Amino acid sequence: MNTTKAAVITSPGNLEILELEMPTLQDGGVLLQVLLTEVCGTDVHLLKGHLPEAPYPLIPGHFAVGRVLETRGEVCDVDGKPIECGEIVTFLDVYGTCGQCWFCQVAHASTKCPNRRVYGITFGLRDGIHGAWSELMYLKPGTRIIPLRGISPETFMGGGCGLVTALHAVERAGVQLADSVVVQGSGPVGVNAALLARMKGAAEVILIGAPQSRLEVGLQFGADHVVDVNTTTPDERVALVRELTEGRGADVVIEATGNPNAIPEGLMMVRDAGVYVVAGQYTDAGDTVINPHQLLNKKHVDVRAVWGIDYSHLHRAIRLMKHRGSEIKWESLISQTYPLSQARTAIEDVSSGRVMKAALAPVQLE
Ligand SMILES: [Zn+2]
Ligand SMILES: [Zn+2]
Repeated sequence: MNTTKAAVITSPGNLEILELEMPTLQDGGVLLQVLLTEVCGTDVHLLKGHLPEAPYPLIPGHFAVGRVLETRGEVCDVDGKPIECGEIVTFLDVYGTCGQCWFCQVAHASTKCPNRRVYGITFGLRDGIHGAWSELMYLKPGTRIIPLRGISPETFMGGGCGLVTALHAVERAGVQLADSVVVQGSGPVGVNAALLARMKGAAEVILIGAPQSRLEVGLQFGADHVVDVNTTTPDERVALVRELTEGRGADVVIEATGNPNAIPEGLMMVRDAGVYVVAGQYTDAGDTVINPHQLLNKKHVDVRAVWGIDYSHLHRAIRLMKHRGSEIKWESLISQTYPLSQARTAIEDVSSGRVMKAALAPVQLE
């Protein structure tokens, strides 16, 4: 029987490298050798215990690139082409969306399907080796697997969860040609949201965040203006956005901060009858106060939120990387690649904002 080394969050605050036994593959299952994965903001929350329903102990890692070592029976991609042993692939982290329930069938909101599970987040160790911070990973039958023909592991992971989440947020925002767009937050989601808003035809993109090193990346990824939250007050930032948008405020504001106080500030930045998209409040970071007359009713504003992703977002992100990856350097978003043994350091570096993105390479190839 195979064994694998994996980084396991045994309980909030505790991360250990454990040697685990791999189960036998079921029909339709895939054994993946993980080549590259990442520390997403969600993993920071998992270690800190901010996701109350997380099934500890668990192996984090919901976005990854790996080599197919073994398949049991025929496993196909979305076009019906068989996945071959040795192929470099990624997978949709969302598993088990049923297509049968009220949310799937009536609301057409599959990210709220109660049967939906997520590799590395809602699968625990008791379910299996279902996180990517591991040399080997077991993908269950029915997992959507995507060959990365022509996309390097570094390009894919440079985009990673942030690109796919940003794609969903920008889709929800309905950015139109010549729009002015504000993005609050300069982490991987914010920087990719700035990029995608520009690709969708925004005439002007304003990126608000910190530290300066992340804002500089934002400028390379399509932001026209960057604003450092460490050297400005909320009133100054709102005034600046209005100054840049003929006094009206931005057509679209996308929030990707994780800070509840960004919400009233962002609502002050959006123009009357504009669109405000909340993507960054993935964990419960507390309350904020808004004046609903001033910021909602009187503004006639359209507020939309984003929960999770579905296969379409990953599929589109991969097409973008395949066709635009030579001009857009997603791989440059990876600040540093860590071995599995330094997973805790990688989490700390993401948490402190020292790095834009930390990649993890569970298998050290020579
Ligand atoms: Zn469902
Ligand atoms: Zn993520």
